[in-house]
Amino acid sequence: MSRKIVIVGAGVSGLTLAERLTSSGKDISVTVLEKEDSPGGLARTFERDGFLFDIGPHRFHTSDTDVNNYLLEILGDDHVTINRSSNVYMAGKYRSWPLTMKSVAGLPLPVLFRSFLDLFRSKSEVEHPTFADYVISKYGMNIYNYFFRGYTEKFTGCSADTLHIDWAEAGVNRAVIDKNVKADDLFSLLKSVLIPKTVSTTFYYPSYGGIQTFCKKQAQRIQNSGGRIIYGCRALGLETESGKVSGVKTADMGIIPADHVYWSAPVSILFPDAGFKFMDTLLCNIALSKQQNNHYQWCYFGQEDMLFSRLTVPRNFRSDTVPAKADSLIVEITLNNPEHRDNPDILKDRLIQQLESVDALRSSDIIFMDWRIVSQTYPLYDLDYRKRLSDLVLPNGLELTGRCGSFWYNNMDHSIGEALAISSGRTFSKDFWK
Ligand SMILES: Cc1cc2nc3c(=O)[nH]c(=O)nc-3n(C[C@H](O)[C@H](O)[C@H](O)COP(=O)(O)OP(=O)(O)OC[C@H]3O[C@@H](n4cnc5c(N)ncnc54)[C@H](O)[C@@H]3O)c2cc1C
Repeated sequence: MSRKIVIVGAGVSGLTLAERLTSSGKDISVTVLEKEDSPGGLARTFERDGFLFDIGPHRFHTSDTDVNNYLLEILGDDHVTINRSSNVYMAGKYRSWPLTMKSVAGLPLPVLFRSFLDLFRSKSEVEHPTFADYVISKYGMNIYNYFFRGYTEKFTGCSADTLHIDWAEAGVNRAVIDKNVKADDLFSLLKSVLIPKTVSTTFYYPSYGGIQTFCKKQAQRIQNSGGRIIYGCRALGLETESGKVSGVKTADMGIIPADHVYWSAPVSILFPDAGFKFMDTLLCNIALSKQQNNHYQWCYFGQEDMLFSRLTVPRNFRSDTVPAKADSLIVEITLNNPEHRDNPDILKDRLIQQLESVDALRSSDIIFMDWRIVSQTYPLYDLDYRKRLSDLVLPNGLELTGRCGSFWYNNMDHSIGEALAISSGRTFSKDFWK
């Protein structure tokens, strides 16, 4: 184990690694560099006037015992267990997600009939299947056209046949939340609707604050065990000597010496010419003076003409994320248009009108609309991304980790699992979606 360890990024992965290393009792110095002024990365929480807004819906759910034990060790008694309630908005109605018999029965008959026929159509083999090929072969052309194509193209801003098959394998099942529910092809989707299994759909959430509470607790432990977290410190790249890492270059603090670097900031900072692309998200956090009619925690919207891809209702995670009798909404919009980045307010009227059209709010109840741009929310899996990753030549003493560092479409539990494995010298399977 090297003596001077620098971890770039105080998101869930950097913090878990730092927390485990500092509490290991080994004679090492651990420094975390974070460009923001608080910990959490994508698992941060914005607070305004008593309203708490996470970056979209964030819940802890895992079937991994080590990760589960770690979550509970950090949260202690400061957690609540919540029943998941997610929806998808289809054919003009809110329907439970994953789909149930009741919600499917309400779909337009021609859609149901054509989807049923797709079950019996022969599947053509494609040599290098794309996202589109994969979904069509699994769910049939009808469901692909009805939901997946529109949702995916709106969400990613890319044509579905320019996306890697991993985007489907990682993303589609992710939305189902419980591994016991199989919905990875049309037949299992149908089976899960006709013969629903009783599954655990509960998840953990901190009992105060937002999801960031978990990261703040980790940061506290790191500092208590002698680790250092330097906020407001932007890493620019690495310093190397004879092919080995010797430090991290920063914007304001010069070079921070290091024997070993774990890099969880975007890999594109280290390899700017390698063509790694990320999506950015525009969040509109809306505070409302009265409770609205939204019964879900989060809901997906595939309609191409809708600006947003998902809505989240913080009150349905924990009622004290909003002041008494008030309500709020987190609206997620993928930032594909540079004009929206410079002046998101130009979307305001259209957004309100669309939210009213799906009965998500009454405009007269809006207290404020708070726009936030969150960069590098999702790695974008184009057709060559695996080759570009495997072509990278890393100096000795550098390890890429976390969602943006290893360009890996993971969740918090995967970031935690990977960090636990690294800190205890185990290997961690990254192809978790296989
Ligand atoms: C909308 C949305 C909803 C999600 N919902 C869930 C969910 O319900 N459940 C779940 O488990 N997961 C969810 N996730 C995924 C989860 O947020 C991530 O998997 C996890 O937070 C990634 O942690 P990380 O540490 O790997 O990466 P990050 O959180 O990206 O951490 C990287 C850190 O590096 C810092 N950084 C970047 N550049 C620099 C630099 N140059 N110098 C120094 N520091 C830098 C960043 O500020 C950040 O703190 C969701 C993600 C999104 C976007």
